[in-house]
Amino acid sequence: MSTSKKLFGTNGVRGLVNVELTPDMTVKIGLAIGTFFGKKKLLLGQDARTSGSMLAKAVMSGLTATGCDVYFVGMAPTPSLQFAVKNHKMDGGVIITASHNPAEYNGIKVIWKDGVETSHEQEVEIEKNYFDNRFSFASWDKLGEIKKLSGINDEYISAIKTHVNVEKISEKHFHIVVDTANSVGGLTTPQLMRELGCKVTSINANIDGTFPGRQPEPCLESLGELAATVKAIGADIGVAFDGDADRSIFVDETGEVYMGDKTFAIVLKHFLLKNKGATVVTPVSSSTLIKDTADSYNGKIEWTKVGSVTVSHRMREINAKLGGEENGGVFYEPHQAVRDGAMTTALLLEIMAETGKRLSELVAEQPQYFIEKCKVECPNEKKTALQKRIYEQVKNENISTIDGVKIWFSDQSSILIRASGTEPVYRLYAEAKKKEKALEIVKEYSSKLKELLQII
Ligand code: MG
Repeated sequence: MSTSKKLFGTNGVRGLVNVELTPDMTVKIGLAIGTFFGKKKLLLGQDARTSGSMLAKAVMSGLTATGCDVYFVGMAPTPSLQFAVKNHKMDGGVIITASHNPAEYNGIKVIWKDGVETSHEQEVEIEKNYFDNRFSFASWDKLGEIKKLSGINDEYISAIKTHVNVEKISEKHFHIVVDTANSVGGLTTPQLMRELGCKVTSINANIDGTFPGRQPEPCLESLGELAATVKAIGADIGVAFDGDADRSIFVDETGEVYMGDKTFAIVLKHFLLKNKGATVVTPVSSSTLIKDTADSYNGKIEWTKVGSVTVSHRMREINAKLGGEENGGVFYEPHQAVRDGAMTTALLLEIMAETGKRLSELVAEQPQYFIEKCKVECPNEKKTALQKRIYEQVKNENISTIDGVKIWFSDQSSILIRASGTEPVYRLYAEAKKKEKALEIVKEYSSKLKELLQII
């Protein structure tokens, strides 16, 4: 992490605990963040990881040493902490979480006063403080104070309820299975669901920072138990969160797991029915399904680079009310312009209640696409040259170069070719109306990439 003189990745600082992210580094990160804010009021919270308290205390030392007052809230989902920063008029916040990464990882996210993660430019400032050891230490009589702040999860639950029709949802008495990956989603969503009149069955609900139930990344491989449970007990729907509960993946009543594009498209359709002509924000990695849905219901799409922080910031800039990502992140601005798993669950239940349709029926109404992914190894130093070569070859097609190269073909198929920000690989995502076609495209372009790489 330190070799390239960068601290922040796509979503904050991330690393293997006590290898890439140590307590002494974390004190320094706290000092760098505190210096950046300058003697302000900052909220601090953590997810359920075993290293959470150790790192929270290290950050606390750094922050208070620069004169910042720390309001410590303990464990909470990331969206609950983000909401609290705004709700309690804090100057910012720090969250100790590694989101969907395995238990041995942890990380640090910095939140601006509007509840959204800091921008890339702000992160560069914090990095400069860190690497140049540029810290504004407070004198002994001006040190920050550490205070406790309680009740933020209840405030968050109440806020979500103001954005949906509680009565309508409650009438349906939905039976929902909630899988919170033994992490902080368990502190809010089961209670929210009960307050929405649902019967709640929880799995992996006990807080356990070793994550014994499943990996905190909600994907097809990790959600077998949730799918089987929903089916076995005849529940209406299942929902799984990642480790900090900002992303949500849903399972229908038959046990079918849907990736985020499908559920985002449902939310998008119903949002556009109520908000005619609205603009929504989504990264170029999203399915054509999102474009089809926007086209069918008179919505406009603002495409962005991949990354949730980019989506949040773009939403703020153009005053968009909805955003979404294929990995299960839905951003509902009337609540807050950040990914929020519990808010998304409440919206989906409201749609099921208003339409009287099951999740499987809502998905069946959508155009169907097949997605094929693969990666091609590419040394980091050759990535830019390869990008140029690819662009030269496809520049006359219908393309977008917002992030990598995305090509839309005339038969509604597409491919996104994008260099990974973290690994020496190029990633390819092909999509088509038929599985064979998606496979064909991904094969064609991976061989093209390999050929180009040989002549660079
Ligand atoms: Mg997350």
